[in-house]
Amino acid sequence: MHNILQDRRDSSISNHVITHVPLIDLKRQYRNIKEEILSSIEQVLESQSFILGPQVEEFEKLMASYCNTKHAIGVSSGTDALFLALRALEIGSGDEVITTPFTFFATAGSICNAGATPVFVDIDPESYNVSADLIKKRITKKTKAIIPVHLYGQCADMEPISEIAKEYNLKVIEDAAQAIGAEYKNRKAGSIGDLGCFSFFPSKNLGGFGDGGMITCDSDELAEKIYLLRVHGGKTKNYYSSLGINGRLDTLQASILITKLRYLDQWNENRRQKASYYMKQLDEANVTLPKTMPFNKHVFHLFVIRSKERDELLEFLRANKIDCFVHYPIPQHLQECLKFLGYQEGDMPEAEKAAKEVLAIPLFPEITYGEQDYVIKTVKAFYSSMSKIN
Ligand SMILES: *Cc1c(COP(=O)(O)O)cnc(C)c1O
Repeated sequence: MHNILQDRRDSSISNHVITHVPLIDLKRQYRNIKEEILSSIEQVLESQSFILGPQVEEFEKLMASYCNTKHAIGVSSGTDALFLALRALEIGSGDEVITTPFTFFATAGSICNAGATPVFVDIDPESYNVSADLIKKRITKKTKAIIPVHLYGQCADMEPISEIAKEYNLKVIEDAAQAIGAEYKNRKAGSIGDLGCFSFFPSKNLGGFGDGGMITCDSDELAEKIYLLRVHGGKTKNYYSSLGINGRLDTLQASILITKLRYLDQWNENRRQKASYYMKQLDEANVTLPKTMPFNKHVFHLFVIRSKERDELLEFLRANKIDCFVHYPIPQHLQECLKFLGYQEGDMPEAEKAAKEVLAIPLFPEITYGEQDYVIKTVKAFYSSMSKIN
């Protein structure tokens, strides 16, 4: 059913002259499943059970089974997932947490907000993920955990990271906010480390209609702590055994996410297909294409190309009404609010170089081949005009 709808939409759009290609178009996804979504929302409205209603637990069970973990705990956002994961591991003041500088700010921000110190380790320039080879050198007596980020939808190299963690008795928290459904050596993102953190920010591969997040784990003890920490740290009202936050997943969001989860694998498959179309049609002589590591199943949260002429290419694409975006122009070790950590330009050469060269071009499950052709044609036009100038 879904595919028939999809094809009809495809041909109706590709018959039109393309005048604008969005980076992501959530309206198309919504239109395809509108009735189902509205009825799941209505159920919650009829019940008027908005805080930790039954849909939250139902979605938690579905997510635990989807990720192959014993537990999944719904929380208020991906950022709070990271924060609560750190709190559950009792990581805070005086502790160091190793992570990548090439990520969304929340990864580093959560470490600081938990009271700990982020220690950055440069990336592998092919996968854009933290370089496992460089981690050991940054381990000190204060190091308590590693937070690898599965950037753009592909897992970091988890085996060497897990080995280092075992050797030095460190915890591993996967930041899987961009990688729901991704696999590393046939294991699901979020099931490899001690804890996995997910985000349901609307533009993520599984997005709610607002903020939402999830923590996955196998440990009963950690799950118990997180259940407590997300409700202010109290098992019963007015008695608080630990210092928690208001960090619950909203029931309305859970009901929407239950419905959307049924489509996630199909959407991720569509992303992979559209990504492989770009891979075939774009010229590696012009731009560096994303590399999927042989051990990974990529879910292409973003399709990120790389170019020395990135800023000019971005301007050209935008002038031709193609939305594109830089994830991320400033690596975290150079963020103004983290200056106190004492990092300088040149400390993380690969992350800094990537920040100057990467560019996400439109990719989402419902993008049409017509729209992709327009993007491909425009990228090629940019490079042929460049070669005429030179
Ligand atoms: C989106 C994202 C987060 C934060 O998720 P929110 O739900 O927006 O708080 C954390 N880490 C990474 C890598 C992300 O992409």
